Amino acid sequence: MPVRIVIVGSGPSGFYVAESLIKSEADVEIDIIDRLPTPFGLIRGGVAPDHQSTKRVIRAYERTALNKCIRFYGNVELGRDVSIPELRQFYDAVVLATGMPDDRMLGIPGEDKIGVIGSATFVGWYNGHPDFAGLSPDLHTANVAVVGNGNVAIDIARVLVKTRAEMTEADLPKAVSNTIQSAPISDVYMIGRRGPVEAKFTNVELREMGHLENARAVIDPTDLPGGVTGEWSDRDRRLRKKNLATLQQLAAMPETGKQKSVHFAFYAKPVEILGGNRVEGIRLEKTVLRNGRAEGTGSYFEIECGLVIPAIGYVLQPLKDVEIDEERGTIGNDNGRVAPGLYVAGWARRGPTGVIGTNKPDGVNAAKQILEDAAPGEKPGRASLEATLRHCGVRWVSYADWQRINEAEIANAAPGSPREKFVTIEEMLDLLVN
Ligand code: NAP
Repeated sequence: MPVRIVIVGSGPSGFYVAESLIKSEADVEIDIIDRLPTPFGLIRGGVAPDHQSTKRVIRAYERTALNKCIRFYGNVELGRDVSIPELRQFYDAVVLATGMPDDRMLGIPGEDKIGVIGSATFVGWYNGHPDFAGLSPDLHTANVAVVGNGNVAIDIARVLVKTRAEMTEADLPKAVSNTIQSAPISDVYMIGRRGPVEAKFTNVELREMGHLENARAVIDPTDLPGGVTGEWSDRDRRLRKKNLATLQQLAAMPETGKQKSVHFAFYAKPVEILGGNRVEGIRLEKTVLRNGRAEGTGSYFEIECGLVIPAIGYVLQPLKDVEIDEERGTIGNDNGRVAPGLYVAGWARRGPTGVIGTNKPDGVNAAKQILEDAAPGEKPGRASLEATLRHCGVRWVSYADWQRINEAEIANAAPGSPREKFVTIEEMLDLLVN
């Protein structure tokens, strides 16, 4: 009898658990459920639309999805269509690979104004995520403040200043592309509360800022220290030295008449979002570093802007029937084990850090624990899941259904672009009934 496993979430962490289980060659039956009809989580909805080469990792997930032990159930939402206790009754092992989909808040006055849009929302919108299809952000502003010095912040800044030609091979929905391209945005301020050495950009992303067709990076050379000091691991020191060298090169680049600018505003901590109902600016406090932490200096300045995008990390969505580790902000777990037969992997286990591949060892870990713990054959598995879904009238989306959606998106693509995404669940389901 196989060990029957359900993985909730079909992003990278979910797929690496499935891949590891298959590679173990144990007798397993794996179901992957996702609340969207489309698989691949942040690869589809988070990775920047102009970074198509990063999205190629999907090919490996596809091979996993097509394995005979695996079934995909899209358009099935945990908490709405099926609960964690039900899944634990149905399966020998339940893996929560649900990520961290909500925006971390800045916690400063004015954050509720129209024109403050968190990165999960904004990135979701430009990536055609159905949750944000109705967002219609007002981009009629010359200046945008993106708060944070991580890869998400730099992705957003780049997407906002790239030309239409530079985005030809991207998979932004047409309406999103038109909104961005017709916006009068000329200056994007990327705000880091700490300095250039502490910034979390990876070097490839940083170097890209020197190769933009119509935008240049603006960096105050006096913000750049002569070297990397402080306590870092060898690897981190190497990466930070590389970033510092890139920032030095960017700061020294001659002005060549590009019309847009991405300003790297280091040592600046947001203290208030200004304006009436709508954002009109952001007030910042200059900082100094003490033991690696940003401390306010009491010196303030303001940037006029009509849009503020905090890109400062993510938090869990509230989930019934599991405890939250308040300190770490994750689902409470002991190295991935949550309760007997219940596991967690990826960002929901360890927090919103690391690149796609960081989820691989997590998958290996979860698979190992599941196979160590499981007493196979007792639970009914997918027969009970399907009965429950049928009972609730859920139209689940199989992997073959997704392949039809995928083919239709590819067929609708503009020249050069890999696909024109469906941005609502209704459109996707309609396609499947016709
Ligand atoms: P991140 O790398 O953790 O960066 C978050 C940034 O927000 C940091 O600069 C942080 O500053 C800042 N921040 C946090 N709280 C703040 C506050 N209250 N006020 C001002 N600034 C604040 O997170 P991310 O950019 O969301 O990325 C998440 C993960 O996905 C990362 O591991 C990232 O590398 C990965 N990712 C990778 C790629 C890629 O490989 N191309 C693309 C996108 C995302 P401090 O350092 O001072 O805390």
